[in-house]
Amino acid sequence: MLFKFAVSIAYATLPGAVVLPALADEIDFKNHLQHADVVLMPGWENQNVGNAAPLHPKIVAWGEDAVWGTAERKRNAQKYRAMGVNLIAANVWMLTATKEKLAQSQALQDASCRDIAGDKLIPPWLDDGQSYWGCTNQAAFRAQLRQRVRDGMLAGANLLHLDDHLGTVAATAHGGCFCDACMEGFNHWLAQNISPAQLKALGVRELVHFSYRDYLHDLGVKTRADYLARQANLPLQQEYLQFQRAAINDFVQELKTLAEKNHGSYVPLGINAWNLVPSQLANAHLADYFSNEIKHYGVEASHPPFAYKLADALGKPVFATAAGEGWSHINHRKQTQRVRQWLAMSYVFGHQFMYAFKQWAFDPERGTNWYEPTIEEYAPVTDFVTQHSDLFNDYEALAPVALLYNAVAERSDEQPLRRYVEQWHRESLQFRLLAAGDNVLKTRLKPGDIAGLAFVCRIDNSELVNQQNAVFEAWQKAGKAGKCDALPQPENYRIAVRDRNQKDLPGVWALARVHNSRPPVVHLLNQNFDDRGAPQQPHSEITVALPSPLLGRVSAVHLHRPQRSSVTLNVLTTPQGPQVTVPELEYWAVLQLQR
Ligand SMILES: [Zn+2]
Repeated sequence: MLFKFAVSIAYATLPGAVVLPALADEIDFKNHLQHADVVLMPGWENQNVGNAAPLHPKIVAWGEDAVWGTAERKRNAQKYRAMGVNLIAANVWMLTATKEKLAQSQALQDASCRDIAGDKLIPPWLDDGQSYWGCTNQAAFRAQLRQRVRDGMLAGANLLHLDDHLGTVAATAHGGCFCDACMEGFNHWLAQNISPAQLKALGVRELVHFSYRDYLHDLGVKTRADYLARQANLPLQQEYLQFQRAAINDFVQELKTLAEKNHGSYVPLGINAWNLVPSQLANAHLADYFSNEIKHYGVEASHPPFAYKLADALGKPVFATAAGEGWSHINHRKQTQRVRQWLAMSYVFGHQFMYAFKQWAFDPERGTNWYEPTIEEYAPVTDFVTQHSDLFNDYEALAPVALLYNAVAERSDEQPLRRYVEQWHRESLQFRLLAAGDNVLKTRLKPGDIAGLAFVCRIDNSELVNQQNAVFEAWQKAGKAGKCDALPQPENYRIAVRDRNQKDLPGVWALARVHNSRPPVVHLLNQNFDDRGAPQQPHSEITVALPSPLLGRVSAVHLHRPQRSSVTLNVLTTPQGPQVTVPELEYWAVLQLQR
């Protein structure tokens, strides 16, 4: 993120008006963000508006839902503004019209996704029995989404958050959508993208009377179960997915344009790209930020760190929340400390976690439930971040080397790179990801991406699409890229963390962040979790190496921890270089280096 060009905004002073900054473009939006900002995630605004002021929030990133009336959202926006919030999102849920709206409108009920047998789809995580999966290719469903965007902007929002941003694309994994609108749209797409000869080879003689639904029926695909079982190998299925992705991308672009027309200036777009898995990134190129569900519970070492690193590679900030199932476990077991570690982790990686006072939780055993934390649960982290904002703002990850993310290889269920990233964190290697996209993810490797990097390594042999192979091969010829086992001297990129017996502590991660005019900081994150819900096992007498080639000269180190007074540590000079001993680590500590 670039903050150095931050601009001052003149706010209008009309009494009662909610005046938020008019943003010029994506860069201007990023200029309004600081790493230490406190970010809210309302969906249930009254709880946030009543409770959030002591946290000094700056951003409402998920946003106010149209389930609230425009007048009430305007009032809430005024209250947020009075707290110092200057970026407020309107939340538009792309998946269902909600049971309240559906109950009032037969047209919306009819605009649901249909499976191959013609039955309506119900999202498996909605257990009210009255919510259907709306089809984003149907006119009535689109009309109410457009209205929600207009309403959100009129209520004073200056960001747009799309939840379930893939609409009907996501329904394909659940047996949809074979409604008439989708069939008609697919025919149109086929006519424009597939030659008559190719169609004929697939058994499609003409498109005027063609129905993909009937075509699959003729192949014996009659039920939702048939379709899901055979989906991967059905003819025209890849083309069908391409059509669905193209359709939603066009519609998301239309909604963004509509928001900007109603707001009168640039409206940054946020999407909830579940775990940042490859299939969720089909319209990431349209998004300015991820306001995102990321699985945390039980996968703290793998999922959130990978998502944060990938978001860095895509150049977009993450405002995170955990998945519904994780919140349900937290709710059931009252694991406050675990939540604080999640919050800390987001800041350690240079992103933010969204604070909520009424958090949706769901697991198959308990169904829908609500996690309703008090402000005391959040305060130790927000106080720490706010009081030490100079340790966060304008710092970026120290990354002398990079791992290559190849979207093609990551499409397998294995997601092999995620395991690799976790291993590098366990070794406290300092690195970043470089993303090579494919026909879904639009990001492309560029020759200049090598700047500042000693080496780029990859773990797979898959082809890189769209001339990206040539970029990588040029780096390889220059001796700056190759397989990971060819990474020269990995020790040079490591900040070793050891116990008092000098044994490595892979459960404590060291992540250095650098600033263009201040010495680096090194975050220590305790990733040793006890699945029974106890706080992480604290560590004492941890030695942290501070290698000069990575971190520069160090004369003193200040140790900062939540709810503890800051102390200065002695820097010990050893044959391996400078090191410090941290007397005790609970879940998070920051070492502030001094020259
Ligand atoms: Zn449909």
